[in-house]
Amino acid sequence: MTPLQEHQSVCLCCAEGCGFFTMVDQGKAAGIEYMQDHPVNAGALCLKGNRVLAAVHHPERIQTPLARQADGTFQPIAWDEAIALISSRFKSTAAKHGPHALAFMASACCSNEEYYLLQKFARVLGTNNIHCPALEEGAGFPAAALAPALGYAGMTNPLADLANAQCIIITGSHFLENHPVAARFVFEARARGATVICADHRVPPAPWFCDTFLPIRPGSQSALLEGMLLHLLENRLCNTRFIQDRTAGFEAFGKAMQKQSLKHCEGITGVPAAAIRDAAERYASARSSSLVLTADYNASPANTGAALLHAAHLALVTGHLGRPGAGFFPLLTRGNEQGGYDMGMSPRMPFGQTDCADQAFSSRITKLWKIKHLPSKDGIPLEALPKAIKNHRIKAMYLMEADPCTESSAADEFQSSLKALDFLVVQDRFLTETAKQADLILPAPSWAEKAGSYTNTERRVQWQSRIINPLKQMLAAWQVICAVGKKMGFQKQFSFGSPEAILSEINKAVPAYAGITPSRVKKLDGIIAPCPATKHPGTPILYTEQFSTSDGRAHFMPPSHDRKEEKPTKKYPFHLTCGPINASSPAVQVGSPAPAVPLTIEINPRDAKKMLLQHPGEVKIVTRSGSVKATAVISDAVLPGVVFIPFPAAAGNDGSIRHLDPRIALPQLHAPTCQVKKSGGM
Ligand code: SF4
Repeated sequence: MTPLQEHQSVCLCCAEGCGFFTMVDQGKAAGIEYMQDHPVNAGALCLKGNRVLAAVHHPERIQTPLARQADGTFQPIAWDEAIALISSRFKSTAAKHGPHALAFMASACCSNEEYYLLQKFARVLGTNNIHCPALEEGAGFPAAALAPALGYAGMTNPLADLANAQCIIITGSHFLENHPVAARFVFEARARGATVICADHRVPPAPWFCDTFLPIRPGSQSALLEGMLLHLLENRLCNTRFIQDRTAGFEAFGKAMQKQSLKHCEGITGVPAAAIRDAAERYASARSSSLVLTADYNASPANTGAALLHAAHLALVTGHLGRPGAGFFPLLTRGNEQGGYDMGMSPRMPFGQTDCADQAFSSRITKLWKIKHLPSKDGIPLEALPKAIKNHRIKAMYLMEADPCTESSAADEFQSSLKALDFLVVQDRFLTETAKQADLILPAPSWAEKAGSYTNTERRVQWQSRIINPLKQMLAAWQVICAVGKKMGFQKQFSFGSPEAILSEINKAVPAYAGITPSRVKKLDGIIAPCPATKHPGTPILYTEQFSTSDGRAHFMPPSHDRKEEKPTKKYPFHLTCGPINASSPAVQVGSPAPAVPLTIEINPRDAKKMLLQHPGEVKIVTRSGSVKATAVISDAVLPGVVFIPFPAAAGNDGSIRHLDPRIALPQLHAPTCQVKKSGGM
């Protein structure tokens, strides 16, 4: 019997980037082995990670290029025909309507090399219409909120460093359920005597994991952090030395904050002012404190941005940055969101902490890419894209494993607008809702069938080798882009023979990745960016001496206080919330079609008792915009006055929840108020 081969692998089901070994048997990914030495997970995998092989040999995967026929059906075509079709349609569209009639989009799970090449393709063709929806929609974090303040949008310390904190504040959606691997470092800190304060609208399944639980109203994360900040500012509980030596704009910020009141924050969060004060004082007075922000699935993008800024401000006014145990941990949700940001997958921010109009960037990159100029005008923002497609400003699109008809806050708008395109190419593993609208569908290799680097939420860049051969010799996205680019006349720009060759160009183009070379990145624990030189060891802790801004100082940015969340009323007494818990995270679906899940809601026993609702009971949820039937499950994980819909039911396989309230959609959710009525003959 041939022994199984063991291959170093990275789990891409969420942004934590846990390591494991894939066991290969006769060309098939046959099992996994735990990687005891991995710095993130030390051998552990969560439920999702343990199911990571499910999509690799899935029977429903697309295997050959499929072209739409005149009668609307799809017929297989050869790869070279597919490449010729894409290049001729993109060439003719750009020639007739200009490069801004083209747009490009990728999912949050592509490799750094795929991102780099896709945005290079867009920019070489002459447009900044380049998108990775997860980066722009606020469930993870909008890069735009943090970059101006700290100079780099990312987590400041490695996950394992949480164990060194003496005080940890956690806010957002369901940390313990959604981040079990990161949670073990919080348990470790607690065992060493750290204070842990957790604020959520859902009770943690292991309440002993924190010293204090603050039950906050859905979507009020930013108000809680603002209240803490106000208390520290009003009572001068600040680290004045850190503020003087390392920051700018504190005075103007302090003045802007005077317009707010702790009482107001109490009203929004539902958390007593005394508890907010206590959390602030514990955070400020500990020798090393850390703030963990998980995605708040029930906050508007504006509130998510404000929460991130307030968290950064809290760290700055107390000086809890740049040291072991003192960090700021915005936890991303999807496999390679950080890599998407670092590789410039944005219509406004190319790679390298810059903007599209930056002359120095443009002259450096035009030389490297051997082109005459780069587009200096921002691309169309994601939220405006469906309208631009409908109005025929965008004529042709290339989608790399992106499914905006399902995984976007504007899913319905994309669903109805994509048919207005002259030409749509979708490369994906499955026939997604978006792929069904394409003119040309290309099959995509799974993570095990292609090589590339991925950057996890703590900025650790790790290499995933190709460990099995792709089905039917299918081409990876980087091969498709190279083939199309060359056919369109860009031989010099797209003559890469491997993902390693692309990474070598990234080393020259992206300063933070200069030392993350193909030979260095392949070691088991990867390299933590920024790594500006080939002998540099990487940067586990950011801002030890200076911030990544042009003057080396952190900048206080007075946030806008534009809160639009609904408050419960007599008519609509419940907050309707959604979110992933455990294996139901959308990330678990990475690479495989979402199963049909019946719509279930969770309701607090006290509310159920008032309604004489039994377990399980049929209910009708009514918002100001619509209604939908669901099965109610009574759960004391849900706070009174809150109705919770777990993913993926929240995604609405049939779109039912989106139709109930158009603001509720993956991945950008809000918490509207609603009624819960008994129905179904109960
Ligand atoms: Fe680790 Fe995330 Fe994969 Fe779970 S899903 S094993 S936490 S990378």
